[in-house]
Amino acid sequence: MLIALLPGDGIGPEVVAQARRVLDAVCGDALSYETAAVGGAAYHATGHPLPPETLALAERADAVLFGAVGDPTCDALERALRPEQAILGLRKALGLFANLRPARLFPELADESALRPEIARAIDMVIVRELNGDVYFGEKGMRRTATGRREGYDVMSYDEDQVARIAHVGFRTAMGRDRRLCSVDKANVLETSQLWRDVVIEVSAEYPDVALEHMYVDNAAMQLVRAPGRFDVIVTGNLFGDILSDQASMCAGSIGMLPSASLNESGKGLYEPIHGSAPDIAGQGKANPLATILSAAMMLRHSLGRPDDADRIETAVAKALAGGARSPDLGGAMTTDAMGDAVLAAL
Ligand code: ATP
Ligand code: MG
Repeated sequence: MLIALLPGDGIGPEVVAQARRVLDAVCGDALSYETAAVGGAAYHATGHPLPPETLALAERADAVLFGAVGDPTCDALERALRPEQAILGLRKALGLFANLRPARLFPELADESALRPEIARAIDMVIVRELNGDVYFGEKGMRRTATGRREGYDVMSYDEDQVARIAHVGFRTAMGRDRRLCSVDKANVLETSQLWRDVVIEVSAEYPDVALEHMYVDNAAMQLVRAPGRFDVIVTGNLFGDILSDQASMCAGSIGMLPSASLNESGKGLYEPIHGSAPDIAGQGKANPLATILSAAMMLRHSLGRPDDADRIETAVAKALAGGARSPDLGGAMTTDAMGDAVLAAL
């Protein structure tokens, strides 16, 4: 199986290198790798943040492991040439419609959470966010009202096929966990949400073993900080998912700890830490590589059919933390390499 390694900018190459060491230790020769430039690094080398050969590699590979893009030296470029366009272009070209963000608090890091430690300890959930629909992609514009006042509008829409396919991802994710799915909407006010709820209920007939509940998004936001332990898997639309997944991340501790997956219909995916290129610490060995190492574990589980290897990596990360591995973002002084060493030793 072929992995496309797209390290990108800033700390991207540093953290992807550690994930690669861990993958080598766990999978040996079962995986092969090709590396390509993306983001600012690609712009400087080729004049484009997502060169055709990088896109071709991503399309050919079985999965993509992505570092981060973002380069302050590109700030003055026109939008189409900025590093961030690379990730948007990849999502579009690969048809990635499902964004999975696990938010799990390793118990050793309870003091890093934005929540009180005793509440934070209960956090272990996955947010499944739809990425291709909703208010982001509806008709939008600016017009004048009858009285000449400016009026902005954004049409929120979902069709039933879009809802059904993300609902299936939510149910399948729940099947692999504690079998509890919470569908988040605003069905008391929004027509899209009423359709969302109806379709999720229809799809649920195929997953009799999953306990389904529905929650309004305002209540979900409250429960996330009040009693996050009640959530196992959350499935929600693009807008609500954008907000709730950032909220859940901060409840779960450092930005350097959290992985993500973006999947398409065939199960192929792009895996990346939720953090960016962190230019302020790039090249100093200060980056925490665990978010990328955990992203590699997600890749093994969701795209490569190697759930046992994924479990091994996640267990090793927990063990490394329990053994005191701490990069600066976790209040310690260990380098990026040393954090990788700690995970390898735990393996
Ligand atoms: P982007 O727009 O690319 O998402 P951002 O502006 O949101 O970038 P990040 O690059 O994610 O910002 O960095 C935010 C802060 O978190 C910075 O201070 C950075 O040093 C820190 N940070 C990000 N990732 C890590 C990491 N893996 N380890 C340690 N600190 C990190
Ligand atoms: Mg960011």
